[in-house]
Amino acid sequence: MSTSGPGSSEAKFYAREGDKVRCSLCPHSCLIADRKRGLCGVRENRNGKLHSLIYGLASSIHPDPIEKKPLFHFLPGTTSLSFGSIGCNLFCRHCQNFSISRARPGDFGLTKVTPEDVVRMAKEAGSKSVSWTYNEPTIWHEFTTTASKAVHAAGMKTNYVTNGYIQEEPLRDLKGVIDAMNIDVKSFTESFYKGVCGGKLAPVLRACELAVELGIHVELTYLIIPGHNDSDEEVNSFCRWAADSVGARVPLHFSAFHPDYKMTDVPRTPNKTLMKAYEAARKAGIDFVYVGNVHVGDEDNTFCPKCGTLVIDRDGFWVKSTSLKGDRCGKCGSDLNLVV
Ligand code: SF4
Repeated sequence: MSTSGPGSSEAKFYAREGDKVRCSLCPHSCLIADRKRGLCGVRENRNGKLHSLIYGLASSIHPDPIEKKPLFHFLPGTTSLSFGSIGCNLFCRHCQNFSISRARPGDFGLTKVTPEDVVRMAKEAGSKSVSWTYNEPTIWHEFTTTASKAVHAAGMKTNYVTNGYIQEEPLRDLKGVIDAMNIDVKSFTESFYKGVCGGKLAPVLRACELAVELGIHVELTYLIIPGHNDSDEEVNSFCRWAADSVGARVPLHFSAFHPDYKMTDVPRTPNKTLMKAYEAARKAGIDFVYVGNVHVGDEDNTFCPKCGTLVIDRDGFWVKSTSLKGDRCGKCGSDLNLVV
């Protein structure tokens, strides 16, 4: 890299094509002319070199319960200092963070942070981990990876809350750097990804599978939007794919939709739809299934899949009590796919 100060860093994962550059960070593979930017709006061709425009620039910094990501099997009951920047490589009509995902460099002031600042602030917040979240961390790759290595050196862990829209080589670059991911699978049809998100489903599914193969702790979130991705056929197909391709041990979170951004004409997700999805996932053999953004009952608690013991009792994002022996069930000793 030629520079690595806040706001300017030569990007990784690109190649020159004449006087243009081809970015290979995400599946859009943007071909970018001189002085132009890729679709995410934060990577720019400057004289044949691709630059990240958001290196060390944060839009939001906040201590969150790790359960808010949601990550229910990764350091449960702990605080994760959470950082976001601006931009996104998908264009979801229902985005709940559009004020930062659609922002561009110069739209408003951003906080300059160094990897050392990230470590210091995380320690001051009493965090066990640092989360890269709020906007899409994939497009912040150069800073999140550099800072994550500093976070590891200081004895803390790291995680991504991501749309999974990343190519294979940069995802492999996260091995040993990012410990956990919550990956959004936004639907199980290409037509939804094309029409609602401006992307493709297949690369997201491949990223989920590869992240698991790389040994990253993965949890999946599926936001159920009435009339758009909530058919029995689609939800059942998603659950079968999850059981077959990423494995029954990977926790699934079904979240309730709230009208937002360009999708204010769609109603909230009924509880009965969420419970139907919960049952479909259990029927598909998924061991750990959760329902989020609403309180419907026991569906935010963790039960041992072998003996049925309530091992983590939650109230929303808060852990009330646990019955664990290390990372295992406190009663029967079963593996719970838990990082503690
Ligand atoms: S990361 Fe940005 S510039 Fe690179 S391919 Fe994706 S949208 Fe295009």
